[in-house]
Amino acid sequence: MTDPTPQAPRGREGTDHDQWLRDEPSALGRVFAPVAGYGVTLSSIFKPTVTELYPFEKPVLMPRYHGRHQLNRYDDGLEKCVGCELCAWACPADAIYVEAASNTPEAQYSPGERYGRVYQINYLRCIFCGMCIEACPTRALTMTHEIDELVGPNRTGLIYEKQDLLAPVPDGALAAPHPMVEGTEDADYYRGAITGPTQGQVDWVRAHRPDDPTLATARPVPAPRKEAVHS
Ligand code: SF4
Ligand code: SF4
Repeated sequence: MTDPTPQAPRGREGTDHDQWLRDEPSALGRVFAPVAGYGVTLSSIFKPTVTELYPFEKPVLMPRYHGRHQLNRYDDGLEKCVGCELCAWACPADAIYVEAASNTPEAQYSPGERYGRVYQINYLRCIFCGMCIEACPTRALTMTHEIDELVGPNRTGLIYEKQDLLAPVPDGALAAPHPMVEGTEDADYYRGAITGPTQGQVDWVRAHRPDDPTLATARPVPAPRKEAVHS
């Protein structure tokens, strides 16, 4: 008959582990050994439940939680993204793809020369580190608290396109494209001088896209004074 006492592996004599292997269980220990595993179950059964019933109960997120990305707009409705690709270069997971294009007088999507024509984030790669939003020079890219919509029917469904990421048109603003506020430069937008669409922008959209639904809700504001925007 073989000796049932476990033996320490050769070369490990003298460790706590070896001592544990040598110790014979007590008589009481032998009696309760078959049901000892239930001790954890029994000790946990009366403790409060910590499991979150997601998605029926939303988790409480920290204020700076990194959820789905958003491409933001200015208060007149122009897009903040200028297609510079800094977010894509900063991304350690190579999850962002940007293609820029030039704004034209007929199709101005963002202040200045360029805008993000193609913008994709691959959520199969993204690790939600937030380095992309730190790199963005215009605060075009931020991260929301949304976590429950990052699902797709297949792998392609988890590559979010620009239209999936673009923020809604702000209350009272006009959908892009439309010209910049008259008398301003792109730097005035970066400084926060733009507070809404002007009557000139509303007239332009009415002339070029009379069916645009944001015309009905647009609330024109006066253009900022020259000395205010260039100070
Ligand atoms: S959060 Fe991190 S991994 Fe995700 S797109 Fe931004 S930089 Fe890339
Ligand atoms: S989101 Fe920001 S960093 Fe990325 S391309 Fe647009 S402006 Fe540049």
